[in-house]
Amino acid sequence: MKLPRSIEEIRSDFPILSVKVHDKPLIYLDNGATTQKPVQVLQVMDELYRTANANVHRGVHYLSDIVSERYEAARETVRAFINAPKREEVIFTAGTTASINAVAFSFGERFVHEGDEIIISGMEHHANIVPWQMLCERKGSKLRIIPFSDQGVLDLEAYRSMFTERTRIVAVTHASNVLGTINPVKEIVTEAHRHDVPVLIDGAQSIQHGIVDVADIGCDFFAFSGHKIYGPNGIGVLYGKEKWLNEIPPYQGGGDMVASVTFEKTTYNELPFKFEAGTTNFTGAIGLGTALDYLTALGREAVAEREQALLAQATGGLSSVSGMRIYGTAPGKVSLVSFLPGNIHPYDAGMILDKMGIAVRTGTHCAQPVMDRYGITGTIRASMAFYNTEEEIDALVKGVRKVTEMFA
Ligand code: PMP
Repeated sequence: MKLPRSIEEIRSDFPILSVKVHDKPLIYLDNGATTQKPVQVLQVMDELYRTANANVHRGVHYLSDIVSERYEAARETVRAFINAPKREEVIFTAGTTASINAVAFSFGERFVHEGDEIIISGMEHHANIVPWQMLCERKGSKLRIIPFSDQGVLDLEAYRSMFTERTRIVAVTHASNVLGTINPVKEIVTEAHRHDVPVLIDGAQSIQHGIVDVADIGCDFFAFSGHKIYGPNGIGVLYGKEKWLNEIPPYQGGGDMVASVTFEKTTYNELPFKFEAGTTNFTGAIGLGTALDYLTALGREAVAEREQALLAQATGGLSSVSGMRIYGTAPGKVSLVSFLPGNIHPYDAGMILDKMGIAVRTGTHCAQPVMDRYGITGTIRASMAFYNTEEEIDALVKGVRKVTEMFA
């Protein structure tokens, strides 16, 4: 599959890609942390504030009606994008972290008790560890951790043997933000469902790289962030199966999530509003809808294919640097490479690369247990998006080679 426009044309949609840093053209390879925004998203947000700003679902007046319609249209765009069966199953949140915390709290309140167990994997981002740990502390329950191989592949045998009659939920990342591994989420879900255990998938690093189909995966919950898929910051999505969303209590109370309030008793609104207390980030939601439309117009398969080519080029190039260690060599990966050149501290390397205009992430990537697993304190991570170029990957490899020469 080919992208419908030239890469130069596509890059011109992203104003930030032509800024200079340290007097050098920006080479942005930190897309795993956040992605850049096309003008289409910037314009829709600007236009909303200029011409259609009013509180969503609040009034009968013209502007409120318009913004409510556009907000609900964005929900439909998300629904179609992830192939959720129902619009009511799509909840707008502040991001992946907020979505996971919502499930850990609400599901935990209703279904997790002392002595119960929660399965997560050893390659989770802190966002899919800490909310479950907090739940365990509140309830006296326990975390069970699926181990992974040196390559970065989850040990499914170990996973299968972890289920007990106390297992209440499984929460696993779709793609690791450090190793790039794409986990076999369908298999993970099938196994959990054999035990009647629901599964939450952290989609923060998968949603932007191709086709996420929640109906096909069969997961019970799916979380992602707008800012990682070319949309605005401060908006995200929690998909949940209607059956669960109806059964679990809301995690925040306030306006819009209620059907009726008296001092004696409150009844909750229907889905999805039961989980959208207060004034939501409606501008962000509409911006996210525009970002998803943008990606759909480019062609998600074409985007994935281009990113895979950039990944192969980066992996090949970096591997050729002497003393290079690459963390995460699973057969199926999203377009990111974590690496350490020799014994150079990742911060030192990151700072020198920065001076060359190359933005990469350094450190633990909010996944300290992954670092502990390999006995290291951090890595350098280059994460590619479809708007990156072959020349940029060459510049990265050249830059890293230069860093190793400087420290030789
Ligand atoms: N999970 C994974 C795998 C991530 O990479 C991230 C972001 N680095 C998060 C969760 C948290 O996302 P956010 O900060 O947008 O809530």
